[in-house]
Amino acid sequence: VDEFGLIAACFKPLSKGYSGSLNLTDDAAIVSLPAGQELVVTTDAISAGVHFLGNEEPALIARKLLRCNLSDLAAKGAAPLAYFLNVMLPTDTTPEWVHGFADGLRQDQAEYSIHLAGGDTIATKGPATFSMTALGVIPAGKMLRRCSARPGDIIVVSGTLGDSALGLISLRGAAGDEYLINRYLLPEPRLALGKKLLGLANASMDISDGLVQDLGHICEESKVGATIRRPLLPLSKPAAAMIKNDEKLWDKIVGGGDDYELLFTVPASKKQEIGALAAKLDLPLTVIGEIIVGDSVQLLDENNKTVPLANKGYRHF
Ligand code: ADP
Ligand code: MG
Repeated sequence: VDEFGLIAACFKPLSKGYSGSLNLTDDAAIVSLPAGQELVVTTDAISAGVHFLGNEEPALIARKLLRCNLSDLAAKGAAPLAYFLNVMLPTDTTPEWVHGFADGLRQDQAEYSIHLAGGDTIATKGPATFSMTALGVIPAGKMLRRCSARPGDIIVVSGTLGDSALGLISLRGAAGDEYLINRYLLPEPRLALGKKLLGLANASMDISDGLVQDLGHICEESKVGATIRRPLLPLSKPAAAMIKNDEKLWDKIVGGGDDYELLFTVPASKKQEIGALAAKLDLPLTVIGEIIVGDSVQLLDENNKTVPLANKGYRHF
């Protein structure tokens, strides 16, 4: 692999749509913003053996990395602008692999209107590792926060829960469900929803480490408690079928990671707007419980009994 050849062949074409990238010809990029707008910045790193198996199509690895960053922008209500990419490759990486990786980025850049603005490419003695930083724009002062949920708010999630965690089980097992596997491999950042939550949601985040753990973050930052009801949790058909066979899998629905759905709270008085928004976006938006005075997350089952929370969600350390 030749560093400058790769940058020219793989990454330069991805920078074309963003003039501030200077076509990757300079030491740094330029970001300008219209008056009254501010930047929302998020970053994520992934490493072979931890975040991906290593033998996936490189295009899929790249697309998931980009989509995870975009999911953070969506959760904050921001519109994608540009991203930076650090690539740390083992010395035996083939040019074909990097081309495949860049091709995945090209596909999703077109889908989500975002472009590459810069980065760095280095060799490593460790596993392949990537770090991406995404920039989004938002009207100044409007970014959606985790710290502003209020007692009385309803708690809403987009899409369905647990598909990705069940998809990973499918992927590791013999007979896999294609829908669930695809949900694990290619999450869909809820950008259109995030934008609509500005001025509607009190608090918002994306679910990446499991519903209960992530709702716990909103509670901690907002100094509130939450009650959620298991019968209300939205499940896809394949997920519901798996749960029917094995009740223990509820743990994956409430604690499994990689959902990349939005979790947000809305004043109860605005409940009807949620229904209208779901119809408009053609995306399920489900009320799963409410914010209360307190300091923890309580999950209730079909009989209003508290469910002990064994799986607290994904933790690196
Ligand atoms: P420096 O020596 O200052 O680190 P480089 O020679 O590594 O700069 O990079 C040259 C240009 O190529 C810069 O504009 C940089 O942003 C871009 N670049 C290098 N690697 C990547 C990458 N993986 N993705 C996007 N841009 C990259
Ligand atoms: Mg460099």
